[in-house]
Amino acid sequence: MKKTEMFKGKRVLVLGLAKSGSAAARLLFSLGAEVTVNDARNEDPEEAPLRGLGVEVILGSHPDDLLGRGFDYVFKNPGIRYDHPVVSRAISAGIPVWTEVELAWLVSEAPFIGITGSNGKTTTTTLLHHMLHMGGKNPLIAGNIGTPACTVAAEAAPDQPVVIELSSFQLMGTEAFRPKIAIWTNLYEAHIDYHGTMEEYGEAKFRITKNQGPDDFFIYNADQEAVSRFAERSVAKKVPFTLAGRSEQGISADGEAVYWLGERLFGRDEIVLPGRHNLENALAATAAAILSGCPVEAIRDVLSSFAGVRHRTQFVREWQKRRFFNDSKATNTLATKSALEAFPGPICLLAGGLDRGHSFEELRPFMGRVSSAVFFGETARRFGEFARSCGVADIHDAGTIEDAVRIASEVSAEGDTVLLSPACASWDQYPSFEVRGDRFIEAVRKL
Ligand code: ADP
Repeated sequence: MKKTEMFKGKRVLVLGLAKSGSAAARLLFSLGAEVTVNDARNEDPEEAPLRGLGVEVILGSHPDDLLGRGFDYVFKNPGIRYDHPVVSRAISAGIPVWTEVELAWLVSEAPFIGITGSNGKTTTTTLLHHMLHMGGKNPLIAGNIGTPACTVAAEAAPDQPVVIELSSFQLMGTEAFRPKIAIWTNLYEAHIDYHGTMEEYGEAKFRITKNQGPDDFFIYNADQEAVSRFAERSVAKKVPFTLAGRSEQGISADGEAVYWLGERLFGRDEIVLPGRHNLENALAATAAAILSGCPVEAIRDVLSSFAGVRHRTQFVREWQKRRFFNDSKATNTLATKSALEAFPGPICLLAGGLDRGHSFEELRPFMGRVSSAVFFGETARRFGEFARSCGVADIHDAGTIEDAVRIASEVSAEGDTVLLSPACASWDQYPSFEVRGDRFIEAVRKL
């Protein structure tokens, strides 16, 4: 860890406790800051241990006079919006408002590899972490599926790559953050309620490369015009990835193989993960692994064995010549579209969940692959009507995931892919997409 002096004796407000807030508070305290933590929730298991350290903890509300204490820095949870009264007042007062990703960057000498994009972050991050591990690079992983970035960064040795998944919300709270390698997987319409416009959403993601210099690398989706347009502004060495055929630049794929600077690396059939979307993730991760000095053999080993991150088009089991996949993380139609696109069919689709009034039209081009469908949750009826309008004849309703699995086992045929890809959030029936996916896995294993 780099012993930064900038927080010594400074007053720092950590807004939003949770896992990352608590990690940031501890680290800032160890760097000599006077730390106050504030969260609107009434209780938090971290309260007592933080108080024990000497951190001030204010729970239950955001007091009006909070900023009157003269804070030098604010670290906010990425989920807290910029129009939040404390945040907007801090910004007007000229106080830097950052996320703990910035803190991670400030305390570390390790090379960072940052991954952002609307979809594919976790998969790409996990793939790359495995590749670097197989390649003997002793990597660390931070972000959504792991430990908070600043905890990881504080532990990282100067030569230990830190692979970090970054949401647009986290990136918005960075200032000097500069990854050695940045990956931008794609840009789809999402989070407009938070960012306002697509342009602003794109600008938030662009921060991943904004501070990069000519010795850094920027790996990006060259098949997406919006991302390519942003890429023109990056001064890093550009590494485009494309599925549009062999290219002399960056990493590319045609129907048969994957190429690095136009040279064949390996056959596409060596990649176990299904679908075009996962091929994109594989290309991005492979490029970063090569740039980090990983041998191609190590990369191939990972790609030929990695069956998917839990709940993301994850292969569960083959039962009576049907292959079951768990894509519970697909909480919107775009993710389900990628999953449908990934399997040629016939597919027995299990879908439904929380009704946000969103349309399923985006799925129409791939519904021809669906031979039977089982719908559950609040959207069951609407989803059924939509599927019928696409020509799917074999449609069933289920009460629970277990029911859905039972029905799917009866109505699917040999050779079918049975795919849980709900296109909806889980909260109408389950506390999280993880619980929904776990129950699916359990039911499938019991068949
Ligand atoms: P994120 O971390 O960005 O949410 P994940 O890797 O967890 O992404 O994947 C979430 C879902 O998004 C997957 O279940 C899959 O259906 C879809 N997906 C994954 N990668 C891509 C991609 N490159 N392009 C489009 N959709 C994708």
